[in-house]
Amino acid sequence: MQVNAIAAFSATEPLRRTTIERRDVGEHEVLIAIKYAGICHSDIHTVRGEWHPVRYPIVVGHEIAGVVEQVGPGVTKHQVGDRVGVGCFVDTCRECENCRNGLDQYCLGGMIGTYDATGKDGEPTAGGYSTHIVVDENYVLRIPESIPLEKAAPILCAGVTLYSPLKHWKAGPGKHIGIIGLGGLGHMGVQLAHHMGAEVSVLSQSLKKKEDGERLGADHYYSTGDETTFKDLRRTFDVIINTVSANLDLAQYFELLKTDGAFVEVGAPEHPMELPAFSLIPQRRSLSGSMIGSIAETQEVLDFCGEHGFGAEVEVIDADYVNEAYERVVNSDVRYRFVIDIASLA
Ligand code: NAP
Ligand code: ZN
Ligand code: ZN
Repeated sequence: MQVNAIAAFSATEPLRRTTIERRDVGEHEVLIAIKYAGICHSDIHTVRGEWHPVRYPIVVGHEIAGVVEQVGPGVTKHQVGDRVGVGCFVDTCRECENCRNGLDQYCLGGMIGTYDATGKDGEPTAGGYSTHIVVDENYVLRIPESIPLEKAAPILCAGVTLYSPLKHWKAGPGKHIGIIGLGGLGHMGVQLAHHMGAEVSVLSQSLKKKEDGERLGADHYYSTGDETTFKDLRRTFDVIINTVSANLDLAQYFELLKTDGAFVEVGAPEHPMELPAFSLIPQRRSLSGSMIGSIAETQEVLDFCGEHGFGAEVEVIDADYVNEAYERVVNSDVRYRFVIDIASLA
């Protein structure tokens, strides 16, 4: 079927409306009528070719919330009318060690991204800035009734990207977590760490969003523009999660970790950063990365948000506002996730 979408046609032109083809629903597949699609900073890095060259036109969007419109004959997990989501990947090899051990986001055979990948049908995958998507039932998540769809969409990437490392590094009572950057990922991290029972601090470029940060659950809020922050917080954190989309001077942040503290990089800036070995070695600090989360963790974080009664803080926009929204995200002017109302694409 032909469906409406918003696509990038080059790294430099504004995104614009187009139509794309969606395949027929296969035996184990689900057709989803997309209601909302979040704008992740990764969408922007991708369409601008900041990570690697991409094939144009490209339809991005991997924070998808909608309703099941049709199911294939072999589908058992979802029914027509169900509220569902799709995150950053739509298939994996299902056989490798990581797929078998619930680490399918790190599939050794190569997970198939929701966009900027080639599907098992040999066609380029296309993401959520479109009215419909066809996905294997095993990569479709259930959205709890208690979360409005627009607030649920960003959980599919921003939410799970913070949930997975928070869980892995055992955020909870007695742990002090620092979150660098109060954007899409950061504001989910603050809420998740708070509801996990950890002490949470935000490290933001200024105090402009302090009230919001505290309302979302931060116990403390610091400006990294204030030099005393780095002196006052020396050896404070068990874990720091860096969500910043640009390069930072890592040394001053490493110094904020306790002995055996971990710095977890989830931000994915275009250019490499320098590694200040002498801020890492002396206190046996660790440096790690973390990529989104598994399908099981994505369901877990949706259920966790459902139980605790929160989702993303969103600005719902029409599809035609997407280029302005991109500029605002790049300028850290988003509170805290833009979500496209897909009805505006109909
Ligand atoms: P976002 O909404 O733009 O948030 C990034 C935040 O970083 C901004 O709100 C800002 O927070 C801070 N920031 C931006 N530029 C900065 C600079 N030059 N110096 C210091 N701080 C700066 O982006 P997002 O959607 O949360 O994504 C963040 C990054 O994570 C992107 O690189 C994205 O590609 C990546 N990502 C990674 C994964 C993964 O699996 N690892 C998943 C999704 C996204 P303040 O205003 O509070 O300072
Ligand atoms: Zn994302
Ligand atoms: Zn695999």
